[in-house]
Amino acid sequence: MARTDIHERILAQRRLRTAQGRLRQRRTVARRDGVRLEVDGRWLTGFCSNDYLGLASQFEVGAALQDAAAREGAGSTASHLVCGHHALHEQLEREMADWLQVPRALLFGSGFAANLAVQQALLEDEDVCVQDRLTPASLIDATRLAGCRLRRYPHLDPEGAMRQLRNAPGGAAMLATDGVFSMDGDVAPLRALSLVARTQEALLYVDDAHGIGVLGPQGRGTVAEAGLGVREVPLQLATLGKALGGYGAVVAGDADLVEHLAGSARPYLYTTALPPAQAAASLAALKLARRDDWRRERLRELIEQFRTGAGRLGLDLMASSTPIQPVLCGDESVATAMSSSLEDAGFLVTAIRPPTVPEGRSRLRVTLSALHTPQQVQALLVAIADARERADRAAA
Ligand SMILES: *Cc1c(COP(=O)(O)O)cnc(C)c1O
Repeated sequence: MARTDIHERILAQRRLRTAQGRLRQRRTVARRDGVRLEVDGRWLTGFCSNDYLGLASQFEVGAALQDAAAREGAGSTASHLVCGHHALHEQLEREMADWLQVPRALLFGSGFAANLAVQQALLEDEDVCVQDRLTPASLIDATRLAGCRLRRYPHLDPEGAMRQLRNAPGGAAMLATDGVFSMDGDVAPLRALSLVARTQEALLYVDDAHGIGVLGPQGRGTVAEAGLGVREVPLQLATLGKALGGYGAVVAGDADLVEHLAGSARPYLYTTALPPAQAAASLAALKLARRDDWRRERLRELIEQFRTGAGRLGLDLMASSTPIQPVLCGDESVATAMSSSLEDAGFLVTAIRPPTVPEGRSRLRVTLSALHTPQQVQALLVAIADARERADRAAA
């Protein structure tokens, strides 16, 4: 039997991606100062981070990290069930649960791992996981890991969710959605989905990676904003690497479910606990996220300014009221050209292309932060309009 040569196979894939102009490249940030980034020797204004509240570079957050690291060292030295579970982890779980008004929260190394854990620990072969068509990679991979059926419904469509659940009787069911969709910026119809979940006896799981800190009272996210609680949404994901400016994630909700994850989820058990200092940083960030409504207020003003300005310039925005404000470009070559014109003009804005988004729906994923100034937003708008004109001229 002739074996497939892995090396040859990946080189062929690479050639194909190069020909399609889809080779993905990392950009190295040499230094960071708030929303300003030094890349390839030039300082750019970034409109692509998920640091919505500006907490990643906040003094108190960095100071908490340093203090804890000076006392506790750089790492946790083991997994949570061996001897890596530190009082700072415990405190962070308690304060996250308190903030989100749920009985229990469990800290994970990352949102990706947390998403894998939830399905792996709760779903079995004969079960079904029904998801919005635009849920992230980690939720889809999670279903594979759980070994159950995956069914997807049209974006933001509770009736579609209902149909998929009805068509998959037997076994247990989970209904999973993002709170705020990461590439579109729109918000899931959580109240309607919670009714669907109730009538179909499915467990509703909300991945609120982009809603936590930003939406809802005290920044408690999309679940709180929809007026829902742990009864309607037994489990939700709050990540610490986006609006909270650090790293890690928390699965929060029903005590029995969370307890079960802590005792049996493989992506929880078989990995090193987060550094305690990282938990200290998140505790400091949480305090600010909870208290400082002015950060959310400033963000809202910038979003409003961006949308109004973009409307005047005839840019193709999406139905988003969140800090994720995609500008549709259509063809991926247009998105790439516009992103590179923007970089020439001093802005770092990522072009999002297939397979991350559907063909013909390539976009610039503009994200706003409370740290941006109205002047920076205005300058970005002018630069996007200019980039659009250049792309149109080049196509003509
Ligand atoms: C970023 C993100 C994750 C993964 O969280 P990490 O902590 O970065 O691993 C999961 N779900 C969504 C919707 C995300 O945007």
